[in-house]
Amino acid sequence: MTVTARKNNIEKMEANIARVATSSTNSEKKKGGRVFLWPKVDQIILLRPVYELNQCLMLSTHNKYHIDRSQSIQAICAKEIGKNCLYCEASKEDKKLTPSDVIYVPVFVYSITDTNTGMKATYQEQGPNGEKIVKPESGFRVLELKEFGGIVSVFNSWKRRPSITDRDFTLELTKVKERNSYTVIHQDPAPMNPKIRAATPSLDAIEKRLLEALPPVESTSFDRISYEHDSPLASPTTVVVEEDDIAVF
Ligand SMILES: [Zn+2]
Repeated sequence: MTVTARKNNIEKMEANIARVATSSTNSEKKKGGRVFLWPKVDQIILLRPVYELNQCLMLSTHNKYHIDRSQSIQAICAKEIGKNCLYCEASKEDKKLTPSDVIYVPVFVYSITDTNTGMKATYQEQGPNGEKIVKPESGFRVLELKEFGGIVSVFNSWKRRPSITDRDFTLELTKVKERNSYTVIHQDPAPMNPKIRAATPSLDAIEKRLLEALPPVESTSFDRISYEHDSPLASPTTVVVEEDDIAVF
């Protein structure tokens, strides 16, 4: 490998790292959407799962928590889209980047209530003229069932049920001895509101949205990089292949 090739590799790696830093942290803000339901302590969430647990997407995801949220990493593993994954490579050095399976449960959130004030949670959105619009925290969201943390108790509560779409649930998140703890209350069975059923996004649409919100970061093979820079013939645009040149197998 030449000195130039090594220098190019370093530049490419730096570019990759910069891409990682922006792609995983700003994606949701950029899209302006509210994809996930992230329960907070002392909130009661009234919701209806819109798909059964065994229909939900399970994707290998990299989760690395950092106290400064902008430094946290959350990205779907690039192997899920058939690519080499930069985080999987990085996990050889940093075990916290090891991927784990996450079940993404699409739910309809009716309301989120603060248990201390009794107030309904809201969020702000920017209107077409830049004005701020306050909206109730309600609509389709995706709840992440991870293999770790308090959320495991929600999975345990749901996993043996023949159906989770046959009724509403309330989830209450509290802090018990510094640990997040969920209380799951099953409401009585009731048919799903037809308006919710009709508006439920398809699983394909949900997967697309998840990939936008938690974009996988593909790793670039070092061999390919040096090849590209060392030989002009490596660039597909400069190689002309006549049909006669293609060998018949
Ligand atoms: Zn990966």
